[in-house]
Amino acid sequence: MQRELNSMVLTSPSTKVQHFLVVEDEQGKRTIPLMDSTCSIGRDLSNSIVIHSPSSSRQHALLMRVTMPDTDSHMFRLIDGNLQGKRSKNGLTVNGQACTSHDLKHGDEVIFGHDVRARYYMTNNISDVHYLESCASEDVTGFLSNLHNPMQTLTTADEMLTSSNEAAIVRLASFPELFSNPIIEVNLTGRITYLNPAAQAQFPKLRDEQSKHPILTGLVALICNDNDKFFVREVEIGNQVFEQSVHFIAESDLIRSYIVDITERKLTEAALQDSERRFRAIFNQTFQFSGLLKPDGTLLEANQTALDFGGLQLEDVIDRPVWLARWWTTSTDTQKRLKAAVLEAARGQFIRYEVAVLGARDVVATIDFSLKPVRDDNGDVVLLIFEGRDISDRKQVEAALQQAHSELEVRVQQRTAELKQSNEQLRSEIVERQRAEAALQSSVATNRALINAMPDWMFRFSADGIFVNYKDAPNTTLPLPTEEFLGKPLDQVFPQDTATSLMNCIKNALGSHEMQLFEYELDHDGNPLMFEARIAVSAENEVMAVIRDITERKRYEDDIRTALNKERELNELKSRFVAMTSHEFRTPLATILSSAELLEHYGHKWDDTRKLKHLNQIQQSVEHMTGLLNDVLLLGKAESGNLAFKPIPMQLTEFCKGLAEELQITTKTHEIVCRLQDQPAETRMDEKLLRHIFTNLLSNAIKYSPQGGTVDFDLVFEDNYAIFNVQDHGLGIPQSECDRVFNSFNRASNVGNISGTGLGLAIVKRSVDLHGGEISLTSQEKVGTTFTVQLPINQRVEQDG
Ligand code: ATP
Ligand code: MG
Repeated sequence: MQRELNSMVLTSPSTKVQHFLVVEDEQGKRTIPLMDSTCSIGRDLSNSIVIHSPSSSRQHALLMRVTMPDTDSHMFRLIDGNLQGKRSKNGLTVNGQACTSHDLKHGDEVIFGHDVRARYYMTNNISDVHYLESCASEDVTGFLSNLHNPMQTLTTADEMLTSSNEAAIVRLASFPELFSNPIIEVNLTGRITYLNPAAQAQFPKLRDEQSKHPILTGLVALICNDNDKFFVREVEIGNQVFEQSVHFIAESDLIRSYIVDITERKLTEAALQDSERRFRAIFNQTFQFSGLLKPDGTLLEANQTALDFGGLQLEDVIDRPVWLARWWTTSTDTQKRLKAAVLEAARGQFIRYEVAVLGARDVVATIDFSLKPVRDDNGDVVLLIFEGRDISDRKQVEAALQQAHSELEVRVQQRTAELKQSNEQLRSEIVERQRAEAALQSSVATNRALINAMPDWMFRFSADGIFVNYKDAPNTTLPLPTEEFLGKPLDQVFPQDTATSLMNCIKNALGSHEMQLFEYELDHDGNPLMFEARIAVSAENEVMAVIRDITERKRYEDDIRTALNKERELNELKSRFVAMTSHEFRTPLATILSSAELLEHYGHKWDDTRKLKHLNQIQQSVEHMTGLLNDVLLLGKAESGNLAFKPIPMQLTEFCKGLAEELQITTKTHEIVCRLQDQPAETRMDEKLLRHIFTNLLSNAIKYSPQGGTVDFDLVFEDNYAIFNVQDHGLGIPQSECDRVFNSFNRASNVGNISGTGLGLAIVKRSVDLHGGEISLTSQEKVGTTFTVQLPINQRVEQDG
């Protein structure tokens, strides 16, 4: 203590002592004024004083400023090494002595490492300062001392310093006695050398137990074994905990302990730790997302729930803006909104909104998010607490409810509309039904009236053909009394054929549900009556037959059909007549015209023979035309039924003979060979019609045998019939045309240029018909033709028509 005080420089308060270090290294010699603070010396440029030499360390030494008690002055203590206690590589030498610590005195020479030399000076004279800065001399200590001896000042202050030191020692010595904390001093054998009153009070057994007392246990060993001459330890005694700061005072070989009861502090710390642990547990295990932000949005804390949801580690998100964390990357809008929310919260607003956040594996959850500002005592926002409650389930339920609600609403609306519609439909159906009922009633009445007025019988038959019921037709009587058919089967009422056909109709009607139409004939008192039955299904397994007497209608129909046929034939006749006349009349007319013209122009030149020839031609043409017209008229008469049939008793054989002779005159190339039997009984026939018949047959036989030859004319009588044969050996008639030769104006295709009108055989046929006879033919082309006529020999005029 004495030694230290000796080195201190005391100056009057008015004079400020300046401190200098004159350094000489590779860069030369320079004077460095030392500032009023501790400074560092070393090779590194970060040092307050930089020295240049490879032998010096980067941080070589410290110049520690030490305040002198009761003055404004200070001194510098040179310490080897840096602030962290690391020693320099090549050490310090002060005034030729290696050392680790030295309080600098005016003129001290210091060597850093091997070669950096420095000298310390102090002075209160400003001109010394200027000299020092400009001087290149090695050692200026003496010079400075001579001029303004600061040491003299120190020496003058020495007495004062000594007395003040003693006072300070007394004062310092009283400190431990007054100190409220225990202070214990032991020597290196572990024996207690000093206990302050607080130590005696705190550890009453200490003097007895000596080094066995827990507060002293191991103390000496720790000091001796360890290089560390100062340490702090905690000692537990019963329920109490003490903090023991231990110093080894080398000068006196004493170990001094300074003890603080930290039981309370420990308890508080434990309670704090406990509370922190509890808070952590709650913070981390709550189902809510929570965390802390700086007011600028930098994330300080996030609980495990939030981290787990995002599949994140705290390191991923801590100290970064919270909106960059995965949770908020659902969209840039979400991030922007959070940024804005942080800004607002930093201004002191409480923020709360619902937002979709992104979790691990792209799970999206909706959270009820809030930001709470936390203020310090000055009212400034220093933290933001964020919280988020997962409301996805609630949202889903809400959405489902909403959906269900809208669906329900739609269904209610639909149902209401349906009900309304069905009400309207019902109403219109009722109206419609009422209308239909009225219509039905009216139609029933009409039908009944119609049925009653119908001129038909109505029968109901069961499916197996039993008469079930019947309704009479007005103003008619059934051909059968009811007891003869009601309840009986069809085949007991109708002839078998009719019954079978009716039964088939009933079956068909039941099978097809279509109306069946059936006509049948019944004999009633020798008169045939025609009926029409319309059969339709009237009920299950039952048919209704509406039966009408159509005898009259059928008769009319037959008459109409006959009339129609006649008309058709007449029409055909007319067309054939027109065709024939256009041809057959033109030829004779042309002959007449040409002969008449020749006579007119040349008559006066011709002789009588020639004139007669042309006159004869005119007459023949006129006769031909007359014959033609007669034939047409005759046929017309026959067609219209106006040809008279007047049979008279006659000599048939004679008549035929005469006729054959008449015709033989007309030909020289043919011979009519007659084989005529004598008539056995009286014969009555129409001579005129017979003439038509045989003139035509014989003239045809001649005409269609152009090569000449015989024509056979035979007559035999069999029973009451006269049978005539006219046979030739001429052209014959093609087989397919034989049927048509009796039709008027019909000619065979093989006639060539043989003239004719096709009327002869038609007249023959009608004449034979009028006699009640028959005519037939056999013919073979190029062989010949035979006509056979069979006539009853004794016809009466009454039978005609
Ligand atoms: P016309 O009215 O002058 O008698 P036509 O002899 O032609 O004329 P039909 O006597 O009615 O008419 O005879 C009808 C047709 O029958 C004849 O055109 C002819 O083709 C055929 N025919 C009638 N008789 C004979 C016959 N004997 N041999 C061959 N063909 C015949
Ligand atoms: Mg003829």
